Amino acid sequence: MICAREIVFGLIHIMRILVLSDIHANFPALEAVLSDAADAWDEIWCLGDSIGYGPNPNECVGKMQELASVCLIGNHDQAGLGLLDVTGFNPIARRAVEWTQAELSAETTAYLNQLDAKQVLGDFTLAHGSPRDPIWEYVLDTVTAFENLSHFETPVCFIGHSHVSLHFIFHDINGMSINPASYDSPLQLDHRRFIINPGSVGQPRDLDPRASYGILDTELMTWQARRVAYDIAETQRRILATALPPQCASRLSLGQ
Ligand code: ZN
Repeated sequence: MICAREIVFGLIHIMRILVLSDIHANFPALEAVLSDAADAWDEIWCLGDSIGYGPNPNECVGKMQELASVCLIGNHDQAGLGLLDVTGFNPIARRAVEWTQAELSAETTAYLNQLDAKQVLGDFTLAHGSPRDPIWEYVLDTVTAFENLSHFETPVCFIGHSHVSLHFIFHDINGMSINPASYDSPLQLDHRRFIINPGSVGQPRDLDPRASYGILDTELMTWQARRVAYDIAETQRRILATALPPQCASRLSLGQ
């Protein structure tokens, strides 16, 4: 496997990285992303929450174990491992955690157990929630984004956790901006600093139910956000065949 660090140090010049997050045990959505991205990537970076809410935790983690050169741990992964107090979770999330805990294989547990919630790879910082609080913090407004700026040193930081595909640009004295994902043209990663969220593969919450991800090109220094439709009904059928809360199925059609 190619070490991601090699990209940045120039040993490999053309490097496209499929960045994804929050698969949430939705295997049909993950398969659609991999098929849509086809051969457009050389590496996969996964920003965590591979499990929780969905019906196929072992399949999704197994695919990341097989394909991802970097994979982070998220709050739902920790909850599945029994590392978190889930009394603060809402009742639906808590029932989903309990179902997931009973479902995890020994191999899945071992793999998730050795993951970090934050990693630095050359010019890129990766965190599940935020660089300041990699497990819990949501970055959905410019105030929170600005406060996080001093918690990473690289030009670009990738985050997940909110399930919303967006990016923050830190301009010079003109401040900063929050921007919805642009699917028509790539974002140029120039001299400014960026916090980028690829959105969620398996449970988008930006009212667009299609699976969300993006491609980072480290040669062109571009970020291209992408969406792909997947067989939502199939994932819903799988959820309803388990003891997972039925709301885990219905919300997928709504993208929330
Ligand atoms: Zn999540």
